[in-house]
Amino acid sequence: MTMKFLYQGNAARIVFGLGASADVGRWLVELGCKRALVLSTPHQAADGEVLAKRLGGLAVGVFPGATMHTPVEVTERAIAHAAALDADCVVSLGGGSTTGLGKAMAYRTDIPQIVVPTTYAGSEVTPILGQTEGGIKTTLRSPKVVPEVVIYDAALTIGLPVAMSVTSGLNAIAHSAEALYASDRNPITNMMAVDGIRALKEALPIIVDKPQDMEAREKALYGAWLCGTVLGQVAMSLHHKICHTLGGSFDTPHAETHAIMLPHTIGFNAAAVPELLQPVSDIFGGTPGQSLYDFAKSIGSPLALRDFGLSESDLDRAAEIATRNPYDNPRPIDRDSIRSLLQDAWGGRRPP
Ligand code: NAD
Repeated sequence: MTMKFLYQGNAARIVFGLGASADVGRWLVELGCKRALVLSTPHQAADGEVLAKRLGGLAVGVFPGATMHTPVEVTERAIAHAAALDADCVVSLGGGSTTGLGKAMAYRTDIPQIVVPTTYAGSEVTPILGQTEGGIKTTLRSPKVVPEVVIYDAALTIGLPVAMSVTSGLNAIAHSAEALYASDRNPITNMMAVDGIRALKEALPIIVDKPQDMEAREKALYGAWLCGTVLGQVAMSLHHKICHTLGGSFDTPHAETHAIMLPHTIGFNAAAVPELLQPVSDIFGGTPGQSLYDFAKSIGSPLALRDFGLSESDLDRAAEIATRNPYDNPRPIDRDSIRSLLQDAWGGRRPP
């Protein structure tokens, strides 16, 4: 077999370890920063304050205004706040929404970022930025948005509620499952994808039983790093396209949408490339779509889109939007087959 590929890593420093978030100050100094603005959502504002306090003179304040979909007006407010405080870097403490805000600020101002992730979404290791303006969500790729330092500390994920751990973990698995058949995949992304899926498959059931199990939390975060990394390195296909459509046009929640769609999109593509999805069969023990569905069900994941505000009459339009522009996918896509896949996901049916 001959091999030909391009491998391109992102120039970020990844610091992994229990208690590693205690070193945020050291990494600020390493970056030459002295005046950090801590970012969080309103929900994690207290955690942001604790972190800022711990940084002492190295932090100038907290902006607890991060929100879903990275609205441009929030980014502009955060940039004005950073300028008023003369901040020279941001420390993003939280999930994809908070990381998104830091990346949107860096895109406009080049402000350095340290990210301390508390979910499994993976945005901290991708050059991708999604933003909304006037109700329209757009996505761009730029090396400018890649955070300089990412600090993974499983202790900060202990408080991630079980339901969110499940959906966020399945969101991460989706990145790796699609990476396995990406047309620009390479041996490194394949290794990372398989190891990432395996780590989450092993960790999530333990987290559901014992949310405080630090070893499982650590394994899940490790898997999330790998899955996020491949998301940033290779092209995503049908699964991410449909989830983007549902989130962007119908406002369905991010992680839940990924969790529900995963068995259906991967099951659909498995019919075309079973050999590329063999690792999924090996890890979950069955055909990719059905075994992912059974796994999601066993860990208490939501299974039906109809439980998230989507009405059956939205499905025609969703299928139309998701198939409007051509994109890379291992199995040809047509409106009818996507409509039927959406119908199964809407009703929570086990994929065929
Ligand atoms: P989120 O960041 O919106 O977090 C959801 C809620 O959970 C928030 O209120 C948050 O404060 C809270 N939370 C987070 N961690 C917690 C913890 N440990 N304990 C308690 N509460 C916690 O959710 P998400 O799924 O991480 O991110 C979703 C967003 O990220 C979407 O907008 C998505 O588009 C984006 N995203 C972007 C990329 C990318 O590469 N650009 C990748 C993945 C996700």
